[in-house]
Amino acid sequence: MLKQITGITRVRMLYLQLQFACNFRCKHCFHGRLLESPVRYTPADAIAMVEHFRLEYALEAVTLLGGEPLLYPDVVAVAEHCKRAGLAVEICTNGHHGFFGMIRALVSIPWNRGEFCQAAWAT
Ligand code: SF4
Repeated sequence: MLKQITGITRVRMLYLQLQFACNFRCKHCFHGRLLESPVRYTPADAIAMVEHFRLEYALEAVTLLGGEPLLYPDVVAVAEHCKRAGLAVEICTNGHHGFFGMIRALVSIPWNRGEFCQAAWAT
């Protein structure tokens, strides 16, 4: 559909908003009240989205967003799928120490240098 409407045939990076939830409420956050939304992708839908862009648009990379993506219960499964599919993966997390267990699970995935990023800080 994207191809037909816009003529776009390649998408290098997919910014995949898994959910709207965060453990912080930063004043600069552009999500605002969306962080109160219960809307989230199922893992199957998130993976299907990745596969659609990988197969139809030669996707090379995925950035997992969430608000805070480490609050997404299946972030490890989604990241693992993306890595196994040969994609570069970034996770845009606030890196709160409460996510230590999730981060431990994620580091078992073979990451490339610079992929796992900490991009937001609470204010
Ligand atoms: S950590 Fe990021 S997603 Fe969470 S409130 Fe702050 S800016 Fe928003």
